Amino acid sequence: KVPPKVRKIAVLGARSVGKSSLIIQFVDSTFSESYYPTIANTFTKIIKHKGQEYAAEIIDTAGQDEYSILNSVHTIGTHGYVLTYSIASKSSFDMCGVIRDKILNDTGMDWVPIVLVGNKTDLGQAGQRAVTEEEGKAIAAKWGALFVETSAKVGTNVTRIFELMLAQIEKPNGEEADP
Ligand code: GDP
Repeated sequence: KVPPKVRKIAVLGARSVGKSSLIIQFVDSTFSESYYPTIANTFTKIIKHKGQEYAAEIIDTAGQDEYSILNSVHTIGTHGYVLTYSIASKSSFDMCGVIRDKILNDTGMDWVPIVLVGNKTDLGQAGQRAVTEEEGKAIAAKWGALFVETSAKVGTNVTRIFELMLAQIEKPNGEEADP
């Protein structure tokens, strides 16, 4: 049996967009409204992709303001990035672009595996949508990233984030990902 390959995935984004909630929903299948401490934490879960097992090491980054969020972008040893915003917050959407620029600058790469995630879709039903699905799709396409809208609260598409991430990390050079 082939041992799982370790893949390090950083979950990044503005404060309160639901980073911890998405990870906890993925790892434990639970959601809690209560406050999660914003300390950096690592979670591991086995994900299957194309018959191979991967040990996803998911890093929940911590940051209170723009400065500390950008400071918590650690690229060394990181295979892929989940850039998260809230569909109810335009500034959190813009922050994803700022974070991507920082990653590209730190790594010296012109492309890295990214899944762009628009979280809190349940707030859209409550009339609080500030970023359209088309806007998310368009920027992801421009970046060569994959895109998904999620709700950590309802549990919608949360597993999909990590399937897309694995496909993006493992895709052959110059080809489209095949999630
Ligand atoms: P983080 O700072 O990005 O890690 O965000 P948290 O996971 O701590 O979530 C911030 C707040 O948003 C908390 O009150 C969560 O309960 C709430 N939250 C997270 N995900 C969702 C979601 O999908 N829908 C709604 N309505 N609230 C969410």
